[in-house]
Amino acid sequence: MNILLTNDDGIYAPGLQALHQCLRSRHDVTVVAPDQERSAVGHGITLHHPLRASKVALNAHFQGYAVNGTPADCIKLGMVALLPTRPDLVLSGINPGANVGTNIHYSGTVAAAKEAALLGLPAIAVSVQGLAVVNFDDAAAFAESLAERVLQQGLPQGTFLNVNIPNVPFRDISGTVISRQGTGRFDDRFEKRRDPRNRSYYWPGADSQVFDDDPEVDGAALQGNRISITPIKCDMTDYDALERLRCWRWDLAHVGFPE
Ligand code: MN
Repeated sequence: MNILLTNDDGIYAPGLQALHQCLRSRHDVTVVAPDQERSAVGHGITLHHPLRASKVALNAHFQGYAVNGTPADCIKLGMVALLPTRPDLVLSGINPGANVGTNIHYSGTVAAAKEAALLGLPAIAVSVQGLAVVNFDDAAAFAESLAERVLQQGLPQGTFLNVNIPNVPFRDISGTVISRQGTGRFDDRFEKRRDPRNRSYYWPGADSQVFDDDPEVDGAALQGNRISITPIKCDMTDYDALERLRCWRWDLAHVGFPE
């Protein structure tokens, strides 16, 4: 299949290299990735300066476009301007560090897959738990088999998969969970410090992650050494709230508009 590969850690990141290495013999892979790390930029796009896509060749097998933009920029630019044909599927990753719970909202890895889904393509975001990832190759093999399955089965329009893989050898993985997005989050801290001119500044840190207990939830699945696969929708409408809101009185006569 024709795969567009991106990430948020930059084109030189080992997680992207591992995925490319795994996919390249059986698939036609085009890499369009940020030219530097753009983790946690969410779904931002570049509007106020021009985008440049430089061809990068790391070895005989690896070529790609390094873009001075965000992961979402890479998908847009790749689809509209760089790729000669529409890819069959988009893969984003492999990100070191889980993208579960509330982190999904900040993740550039997830946003790239979301951008692809907005453009009507099947897409998968892939992350491995833990920042010191030693085993991208097993995760890449799983991502490849899942990509093939997604292409066979299809995904609903506007839905993509957010996949998180425990950072253990494959023999120690105890299964997969089709999970929900949890409410787990990093325990935000801001350390207040003083600069040399005695002005205060804040250094954000988040050293511990608060997980959900429900085993059906993304972060909890990882805690049990299981692969978490969450279908995510681009349509963020809350349909229950929509029905309730429609029952409110929406008579504009109640508004005190200025005379
Ligand atoms: Mn990242």
